[in-house]
Amino acid sequence: MRDDAEQPLGFMQWEDVESLVGSIRSRSLVARPTTVEQCRDALAYCRRNGMTVCARGAGRGYGDLALNDGQALIDMKRMDKIIEFDEERATIKVEAGTRLIAIYREVHHRLLTLPASPTESHSSVAGAICANVNGKDAWREGSFGHQVISMTLLLANGETQVIDRGHELFNAIVGGIGLLGLIVDATLQLKRIKSPFVEIERIPAANVDELLDTMNRVEKSHDAVVVWVDAYASNRCVGRSVIHAAKWIEHDDTEAERKEYLTAGFEQLERHRRFGLALHTTFGSVLSLMLQAQRLMMYSFNGLYYGLSRLLWRLGRSSNSELFLRFSFEASFTVPPAHLVCGPRGYTLQVTFPRSDARAAIVELLGICRSSPCPPVTTILRAHKHDDSLLSFSEDGYSLNFEFHPKKRHEIASRAAVDRLIDATARRGGKVHLAKDQVLTPRQFYKVYPRYVELLEYKKKLDPDGLFASDLARRVGIGTPHTP
Ligand SMILES: Cc1cc2nc3c(=O)[nH]c(=O)nc-3n(C[C@H](O)[C@H](O)[C@H](O)COP(=O)(O)OP(=O)(O)OC[C@H]3O[C@@H](n4cnc5c(N)ncnc54)[C@H](O)[C@@H]3O)c2cc1C
Repeated sequence: MRDDAEQPLGFMQWEDVESLVGSIRSRSLVARPTTVEQCRDALAYCRRNGMTVCARGAGRGYGDLALNDGQALIDMKRMDKIIEFDEERATIKVEAGTRLIAIYREVHHRLLTLPASPTESHSSVAGAICANVNGKDAWREGSFGHQVISMTLLLANGETQVIDRGHELFNAIVGGIGLLGLIVDATLQLKRIKSPFVEIERIPAANVDELLDTMNRVEKSHDAVVVWVDAYASNRCVGRSVIHAAKWIEHDDTEAERKEYLTAGFEQLERHRRFGLALHTTFGSVLSLMLQAQRLMMYSFNGLYYGLSRLLWRLGRSSNSELFLRFSFEASFTVPPAHLVCGPRGYTLQVTFPRSDARAAIVELLGICRSSPCPPVTTILRAHKHDDSLLSFSEDGYSLNFEFHPKKRHEIASRAAVDRLIDATARRGGKVHLAKDQVLTPRQFYKVYPRYVELLEYKKKLDPDGLFASDLARRVGIGTPHTP
């Protein structure tokens, strides 16, 4: 920003902005536009005053991908209107800042769902597009970009452009972490469902071989799957896990009845969410303290969880039906929420690896976790399918998502273990999910995302002065229009 900068516009002000778990702090000139015209004004202001801009959706990414320290943020939360809903075609056009949960509220009782929704239901549509997020249905429905029919992009020069699936920029914008322009609206394809209910089976797997055999089976028979993995189990038990597999089921009810129980479901989600956040505020430090005994705590908890699941499975009591909302957005094991699990120094890491190499990859990655002084507090496995986005992390294979809560005295050794995880992932041709990253170095980034060069080629054409930037882009070495 220049010393002689103009007064900020009426809808802009300097604010402290933190990353999700509070581990990264920054200060930015935050604009909260309500119209495309105001977005354009904000970009023009930043161009005139020598500032870079980063778009921010709901700020639910874990790291620094929606932060821009010392520079400008365009916070899209006030642009959250549903523009057009076409029930017959099952499509919906929304403003960029619309939360995914708002779409569910609009369409779910009409027997429609939004595939590829991440667990964080308060993610915005544009945030979900730019991080190309994935849901528990990722191997079937692909990542979020698969549901995008078109989007309107506001370019650095103030012009708008409609980008549909056939447009050459489509795969650069999807997963492109907001570096090419500001999305102002998007049209999404919804999917018809039999009812808002799913039947869930919880299947214990004693080791990595049982895990992969079961995944092979449920990927054919089910619609959504997520796996709790015990990262502490070793030797013959490596890969011990509990597979939660869901499929849509019929449910005989009227639209009015659906509306009623879904309203109660949405309210319950909101209550639990508020409870989780209050728990974080009140007891976050106590939990951090308890996690000083993390190894013992998590070893025991995982053992108990697996043992109980096995018992219920043997007793034939391991399945039930419940609202998809609960399964998707409130997986039993995501409570306590990310804030609590990660703690103030914590971070997540989600890495993919190809299907053909899955067994060896799981054994190696879990082995690295066990060698860390602070193994992950939670470890989740998902299945994925290939994606053409330039920076998308989705591949035909699986991902492991780790949540780390490193102790202060082990910070350096924990970080070294995370580097080994990333290096092993890169060696195996896997990727690291940028929505959850706050540790990748330029060397690691270039290795896992070699197509960043193509993204920068587009950036040179669309944004030659490097107006769009972020802390993440600078950290991984693509923060300027010049190829490093
Ligand atoms: C508890 C929890 C669970 C989660 N579960 C999952 C999961 O299951 N799967 C998964 O993939 N992710 C998951 N995430 C991550 C989260 O869903 C993603 O980070 C998502 O991108 C957040 O959306 P947002 O609106 O907050 O985006 P932000 O974090 O605000 O932004 C994300 C990126 O999009 C860009 N952006 C945002 N809006 C615009 C715009 N209008 N124009 C251009 N660029 C824009 C930003 O610059 C940034 O690069 C989870 C997060 C939490 C906290």
